[in-house]
Amino acid sequence: MRYLIGRYHEIALKGRNQWRFVDQLRHNLRALFADVGLGKMRGEGPRLIVEIPDAIADAVVIERAALVFGLQNFSLSYEVPLEIEAIVREAIARARAHPARTFRVTTRRGDKRFAMNSMEVDREVGAAVHEALGYAVDLHNPELVISIEILAHAAFVSAGKIPGAGGLPIGVSGRALALLSGGIDSPVAAYRMMRRGLKLDFVHFHAHPLVSAASREKACELAAHLTRYQAKSTLALVAFGNYQREIVASSLRPLRVILYRRLMVRIACALAAKTGATALVTGESLGQVASQTLDNMAVIENSSNLAILRPLVGSDKNEIVEQARTLGTFETSILPDEDCCTLFVPAHPETHARIAEVEAAEARLDIARMVAEAVAAAEVRRFAYPARSARTLRSAPTEPPH
Ligand code: ATP
Ligand code: MG
Repeated sequence: MRYLIGRYHEIALKGRNQWRFVDQLRHNLRALFADVGLGKMRGEGPRLIVEIPDAIADAVVIERAALVFGLQNFSLSYEVPLEIEAIVREAIARARAHPARTFRVTTRRGDKRFAMNSMEVDREVGAAVHEALGYAVDLHNPELVISIEILAHAAFVSAGKIPGAGGLPIGVSGRALALLSGGIDSPVAAYRMMRRGLKLDFVHFHAHPLVSAASREKACELAAHLTRYQAKSTLALVAFGNYQREIVASSLRPLRVILYRRLMVRIACALAAKTGATALVTGESLGQVASQTLDNMAVIENSSNLAILRPLVGSDKNEIVEQARTLGTFETSILPDEDCCTLFVPAHPETHARIAEVEAAEARLDIARMVAEAVAAAEVRRFAYPARSARTLRSAPTEPPH
C-alpha cells in the first residue's frame, strides 16, 4: 500500500490548538484530491499519514501534495511490516525505481522499540542496496536518499523527501479579498498571504469596453493559477472605466490616480462584506511607483474600513519578479494589456496627496452611488482545482523563494 507521509511545517510548533491546523490541513488535502479521492488519514506525531488509492499516479500525488500549505516536506512511502528483511526488500525496490549513481539511507525511529537502532538499519539497508544495484554510498551529496521511518505498527520506506509548500493551511487565518490587477506584483502578494493561511477571493477592475478585454483575461488566468492552492476561488470583475470618466471630468489631473484607488478600495470593501472577507490584499511595494509613497498609501488606506495587507511592502522589484517566475505567474503577468490604470492616467501623478484636498475632490462625486452600482454590476467568475473539465495550466515549480 502506498502512503503519503506529510511532515508538518510551522504546525509542529503550535500548542494546544494544533488540532485546528491539522484538521484544516486534512480538509485542504482532500479538496485538492477531490476528483480522485484519498483514503484514510491518521496523525502520528508531527506527521500525517494518508492512504493513496492505487488509481492515482505517483506524479499526480507529488504535484498536488506540493500545493498544500502546511507541510515542510512529504514522501511517497510504502508500508512494510516491522522486519528488517521486509525493509531491505522494499528499499531495493524503491532504489531500483529511482536509478542513481550515489545514494544514502536515512532511518528515523519514531518508535524506539525496534530491535536495531537507526545507524544499524542505515548500514544494513545501505549494504544490501549497494550489493543488489551497484549504487555507491555517498553520505554527503547523494543523488538519492532512501528514507526509512520506523513507527509503532509498521515501517515506511520511500525514495527521497519532496519539499512541501510550507506556510499554514489555507483557512486557518480567515478570509480576505485580494486586488488582482493583472500585473506582476498582485499575484505574488496573493500567494504570500495564502501561504499564511488566508483563504482569498479576488477582484479585478477593468476598463472594458473602453479598452480591450486583455486585462480581464489575464486576471482570470491568474486567478485560475492561484486556485491550485486553495481548490476554489471567486473572481469579481468590476467595470471601472465609466467611473474613471466621471473622476476625470470632475477633478484635477494629479489627483486622479489617488481617487481611482480610493474608489477601488471602497468597492472592494463592499464586495468583501458580501463574501465575508475581513481584510484586503494588495501588491503595493513602498516607493515602487508614484501611487505607492507613504503619503499616498495613507490617503488610500483612509478610504478603507478593512485592514489592507501589503505583503510586498518591503520587497524589491527584482525579488518580486523572481518569485513570480517561480510561482509561474510571470509569463501571464507580462502579457500586454490595458487595465483601468493605463486609462486616463496623468503624466505626473500626485506623490504626496493631502487628505483634505482629496476629500474636497470626492465631495463633487456621488461615491455612494458608484460603489452600489459597481457592486451590483460585478460579474463573478468561479474557479475550481482540480477543474471539472481538463484545463492546461502553466507548469510551475512548487516552492517559490520567500
Ligand atoms: P501590479 O504589478 O500588481 O499591477 P503595480 O506595480 O502596477 O502592481 P499599482 O498600479 O500601484 O502597482 O497597483 C498597486 C496595487 O493595487 C496592485 O498590486 C493591486 O493589488 C491593486 N490594483 C491596481 N490596479 C488594479 C486593478 N485594475 N484591479 C485590481 N487591483 C488593482
Ligand atoms: Mg499594475
